[in-house]
Amino acid sequence: MFGPVPRTMWERLVADELNPDATLTQALNCLLAETPAGRVLVETGIGERMDERHRAQRTVRGEAILPTLRTAGFDPATVDLVALSHLHFDHAGGLLDAAGAAAFPRARIAAQRAEWEFALGGNPRLQASYEQDELRLVEQAGLEGAVQGSAEVLPGVELIQTGGHSGGHQAVAIHGPAGTVGFFGDLCMRPWSANPRWVPSFDDFPLTSVEVKGSLFRRAAEERWTVVLSHEPRRPVGRLVADRDRFRFESLS
Ligand SMILES: [Zn+2]
Repeated sequence: MFGPVPRTMWERLVADELNPDATLTQALNCLLAETPAGRVLVETGIGERMDERHRAQRTVRGEAILPTLRTAGFDPATVDLVALSHLHFDHAGGLLDAAGAAAFPRARIAAQRAEWEFALGGNPRLQASYEQDELRLVEQAGLEGAVQGSAEVLPGVELIQTGGHSGGHQAVAIHGPAGTVGFFGDLCMRPWSANPRWVPSFDDFPLTSVEVKGSLFRRAAEERWTVVLSHEPRRPVGRLVADRDRFRFESLS
């Protein structure tokens, strides 16, 4: 989780949540936004199609996105836009329902075109993070909805191409009269991700991560965005505050 950061520096930050096997439990946070232009879901989690062996291996617990949405009173068929920070299995796994049909039949699937190319490409290091067979089932819809570079895909809904964590990674910013909500995908997973130099070992382009985190986080701090962390289980909503040559995440939840 901490890449090149020495254990002596990160250990105290996770002392109360480190599992006995030295792993950390990750939440799979999905964000639902109601905008005047449409209903937007950011991320879809692991979904319902991972087999028992892999679920056990990864100790997957909890409800998938479709039952969670329904419990919260939202019909998945009313989602207009699914924005994905990237296509790793723990973010794009919920694009299909348990039977393999489109989970959000009306929605545009908005990931970066470049991310589709990395996800379905032949590089063995990259392949380990994607479920290629699953992605091929949604490839056509994915390519139809794909975005090339930064773009406003609905009024107030801005996708910002970043790269870094994965080749075609993007951030999502939703602007409204009360302010902006920023979701930076796996560039900002946990409170300690607020330091642009702290990048996990599974970022494929770590130097890009450092650079893009610096500029993105500066904008979020200056414009006082509400920031939602992608994998923080306890207090995922907060703000980024400038702190010397880095930033600090201050929780609001
Ligand atoms: Zn992730």
